[in-house]
Amino acid sequence: MSNRVFNWFGLISVALVLAAGNAQAQGYPTHPITVIVPFAAGGPTDVIARIVGENMGKTLGQQIIVENVAGAGGTTGITKGSQAQPDGYTIMMGHMGTHGAAPALYKNLKYKPTEDFEPIGLAAGTPIVIVARKDFPAKDMKEFAAYLKANGDKLNEGNAGVGSVSFTSCIMFNVLVGAKPTRVPYTGTGPVINDMLANKLDYACDQIVSVSSQVQSGNIKAYAIATETRSPALPNVPTSTEAGLPEFKVSAWNALFAPKGTPKDVVAKLNDALVKALSDEGTRKRLLDLGGVIPEGKERSAEWLRDFVVTEVDRWDKIIRAGGVVAE
Ligand code: ASP
Repeated sequence: MSNRVFNWFGLISVALVLAAGNAQAQGYPTHPITVIVPFAAGGPTDVIARIVGENMGKTLGQQIIVENVAGAGGTTGITKGSQAQPDGYTIMMGHMGTHGAAPALYKNLKYKPTEDFEPIGLAAGTPIVIVARKDFPAKDMKEFAAYLKANGDKLNEGNAGVGSVSFTSCIMFNVLVGAKPTRVPYTGTGPVINDMLANKLDYACDQIVSVSSQVQSGNIKAYAIATETRSPALPNVPTSTEAGLPEFKVSAWNALFAPKGTPKDVVAKLNDALVKALSDEGTRKRLLDLGGVIPEGKERSAEWLRDFVVTEVDRWDKIIRAGGVVAE
């Protein structure tokens, strides 16, 4: 009898311990989740966060609300996100800039991409497209490169600030073609494209998802896509190799992160919702139609992203040192 009582107690306490450990995830989420987008609305990071977040919200039974916190090439929003309560109610959409290039460019960066986050998972890959205002006087990449070289700083290149993907991609592009434009920082490439549509800006190196529909409707020109193969979303835009600039190959990545210390089971729920979004027909179609590249298989795990960020920070450190770009 006493043995049986002991066993019951034993079982009950084991159950209570397990329940306590799981309490956060079992109830989670009980209210809407905020995803910090570290750029202005309408740019690629914002577009991806909204598409993926909408479906994740359905799985989680709570809405995912986008908060745009722009500034300093995305590092302002990510700094804010890294300091948020690690309870699963504030997460952020980082990318190749904020979690790759930023540490090499900002001496006083207030977060470490490899240490201060719980990776949730990769959301979408986004090839870089060279775009220019509709009436830019060059019919192809060859003429475009020659024009840039001849016109120097009379031309304006728009980007999303030091360390952003548009900034680093255009550093590479400008070096390759010998262009020395005036580089104009914006809070995101949403406003960059708006100014290009208004003919106030000459060109940019942007991620495909925020330019493909404007290129398709002829409102802006695209000279090349920086990938090995053409994108089904922009079948008439030549690859950089076809356009005569084979060294220019850049594709960005975008991924969700939670602040460090967010409980493992909460992160697992968020990863599960992300994976479901990436498998959902409607969500896939929206991403693919814009030219997004959907992560598959092991690339969808949080562990994969954790390792990937380590290699990206290292890779960008080398690229930026080699390019002699001055740190802020
Ligand atoms: N993510 C973009 C960049 O780094 C900017 C944006 O999303 O608006 O250039």
